[in-house]
Amino acid sequence: MASEKKSVEHAKLPTPAVVKVRKAVRVIVPAAILIALVAGVGSGTLCSVGYDAIAYICPLGALESIFGSGAVVVRVIIAIAAVVVIALLFGKAFCSWVCPVPPLSSLFSSAKQRHKDKVACADAAKHVGERLHECSSAGCAACGCCASKAIEVNADAAAAEQSENSTKKKARKSKLDSRHFVLAGALGSAAICGFPVFCLICPIGLTFATAIAFYRLAGFNEPTLDLLIFPVILILELTLLRKWCHRFCPVGALLSLIAGFNKTTRPKADKSLCVRSDGTPCTICSGVCPEHIDPCDDLGDRPLSECTRCGKCIESCPYGALSFTKSNKRVEAKATATAVGEE
Ligand code: SF4
Ligand code: SF4
Repeated sequence: MASEKKSVEHAKLPTPAVVKVRKAVRVIVPAAILIALVAGVGSGTLCSVGYDAIAYICPLGALESIFGSGAVVVRVIIAIAAVVVIALLFGKAFCSWVCPVPPLSSLFSSAKQRHKDKVACADAAKHVGERLHECSSAGCAACGCCASKAIEVNADAAAAEQSENSTKKKARKSKLDSRHFVLAGALGSAAICGFPVFCLICPIGLTFATAIAFYRLAGFNEPTLDLLIFPVILILELTLLRKWCHRFCPVGALLSLIAGFNKTTRPKADKSLCVRSDGTPCTICSGVCPEHIDPCDDLGDRPLSECTRCGKCIESCPYGALSFTKSNKRVEAKATATAVGEE
């Protein structure tokens, strides 16, 4: 096991394919929506985008319309079911693969605020380190925490067995937080007012409404007040509510409730490669996670159900221990290359 770790230690692993694909999707999706809009072959925004009768509808907007109108439309139910299936398969991937809010939020952040974000990640990793220490000091029986199993057990077979047990134990549920209250408020206000009130201030919708307002100005010479109102509200939200994703976003809240049931595409640590199984209190992967998750043992400030599949932790692990799938293709590729080189 140790030699296997050494073979990948300090070796530059290839960039995970998932990271490359995510970066491409980040550009392709908004570009495709705008091109379809300009070319007149599609319609809508990220709240409702599609072609003709086939459309993806924002799950929150769909729920709000049901609460607001009291009518259950089959098309809306199908749209919600599609989102549920996607969230069951890929968790909160929408948040880091498609949603325009994180990159815009970063764009409107000052250097000081970005530094604060890094400090917050470092603090979250520090908490993971403290929990690892508690586990190794107190032992499994005392704390019941999963990571201690990986630390205390030396034999590979026993470690694998313990790791399996820990996987069962560590399935932390998504906790209710301020975002879920915003979600309840969005649905409640829709029911009281009879229309989706939250959609008026949703930064996702406002982003695309702003883009559409500019498109109308450029394409049809239609200057409207939207050109002023939408960007102003959007910038105010992104600058005043900087922790939008973690504290306020009802779409993220909704997805996290469903994502709690996904186990297949979460980050998984190969215990034969992760140095924690040797007792090293490594927190490199936790330190880069923008969601303050511990992808290795779920000892972070936030549970794994909040994972947005950004792949940063996978890219950061110097041992290639993490992957979204059971087969770790990067390490396999590295091992093959090493074997060919030795021949
Ligand atoms: S960075 Fe890699 S070796 Fe370190 S704890 Fe995370 S998965 Fe394990
Ligand atoms: S656990 Fe990894 S993939 Fe998930 S949000 Fe954190 S860094 Fe991204």
